[in-house]
Amino acid sequence: MTWYAHVMELSKRVSALQGSATLEVNARIRALKAQGVDVIGFGAGEPDFDTPEHIKQAAINALLAGQTRYAPVPGERSAREAIARKLREENNINCNADDIVISVGGKHSLYLALQCLIDPPQTGRPAPQVILPTPAWVSYMPMIQLAGGEALQVPGAVENDFKITPQQLEQAISPRTVAVILNSPSNPCGTMYSPDDLRKLAAVLEAHPHVTIITDEIYEKLIYGDAEHLSMGSIDSIADRVITINGLSKAYAMTGWRIGYACAPGDGGVVAKAMGKLQSQMTSNITSFLYPAIEEALANGADSVKMMHTAFTKRAALIHERIDAMPNVVCPKPTGAFYVFPDISAYFGRTSPGGASIDSAVSFATALLNETSVAVVPGEDFGDCGRNHVRLSFACSEQHIEQGCERMDAWLRECS
Ligand code: PMP
Ligand code: GLU
Repeated sequence: MTWYAHVMELSKRVSALQGSATLEVNARIRALKAQGVDVIGFGAGEPDFDTPEHIKQAAINALLAGQTRYAPVPGERSAREAIARKLREENNINCNADDIVISVGGKHSLYLALQCLIDPPQTGRPAPQVILPTPAWVSYMPMIQLAGGEALQVPGAVENDFKITPQQLEQAISPRTVAVILNSPSNPCGTMYSPDDLRKLAAVLEAHPHVTIITDEIYEKLIYGDAEHLSMGSIDSIADRVITINGLSKAYAMTGWRIGYACAPGDGGVVAKAMGKLQSQMTSNITSFLYPAIEEALANGADSVKMMHTAFTKRAALIHERIDAMPNVVCPKPTGAFYVFPDISAYFGRTSPGGASIDSAVSFATALLNETSVAVVPGEDFGDCGRNHVRLSFACSEQHIEQGCERMDAWLRECS
């Protein structure tokens, strides 16, 4: 008998891929909790609320009624109609059901959109570019790279609430640019662009018709103070080139359900059709008895959204007050989403109370977790300009915020 040494070689694409830092922190929190450690997790961003009962019931009813078969790939028509109605009425986006593709979370919608827009570089040619204002959510860059593109990072300054300026956008655009990804309210920054800021960015984009605008508006319902949200897809001069991404995870506390959608009405719906085609070879439709839950959430979820929003508003103020009081930590006030992204670089070059050298956000977060059981996400994977930061999600109780910040504050004061 001949024995073969069998080695399963991974593709270069996947070997080089960075796994999700946010989900990794969550996995670590889960493992520590299972060992009985009293961890305070400010890790992955997911509401601590349960999905509202009436939304659950809609899925249960559909399941019991036998809505268990394959559905149209982009989603049941009535659910797509409900989404299109929401986008027309709340976001002023001119669209209909044919422009909507429902996918396995907003993450999947973004993945599909990027795969449909980007070609891997031809030999000897530079890779197509996607402009990415940073700090940016950890998954955009890997998704751009998996499609064969290159992310061109455009850093937003802390003093400007991490926003990029129209001049920066203008300078970044070149014939290589395929798309720009905007995300307001922002993960990880917790800040947002004003309608006026977005109109100015749109004015720059007007002059560059080869650039598609992907706008991730998944945190649109989580806005604090008098900040206002504007959908890029409502700006007539660029609407034809806008792909709006959204989903139910954050606004309705439905992270585990995996429901996201894209709206791409431009150019006769060419991108929406392409995304549907790709999805038909990938996952087909989402779980079929979830479609009535989408309709229920959009039609009758406003009260639950409001209740959660009230809680998040209080938490935003509380966590900002606590972090602002920490020595040598700089943190813009959160105006949207449920994150703060403080600059902790004043601690680089110092030693933690437990004797660890702190020289990066990763070593800071590791020492903080090891020594206080407080979990935060290090900033490195949010882009080069995230290196001086850590991210804290405040999608957790006020008591949790108080306790975690107290531990972190005491720990910082003992760093030497
Ligand atoms: N966009 C941003 C900015 C996010 O933070 C998330 C959270 N994971 C998503 C998209 C995707 O969320 P989901 O896949 O749960 O819809
Ligand atoms: N978007 C959330 C976060 O950034 C959930 C985890 C993920 O998908 O990245 O924490």
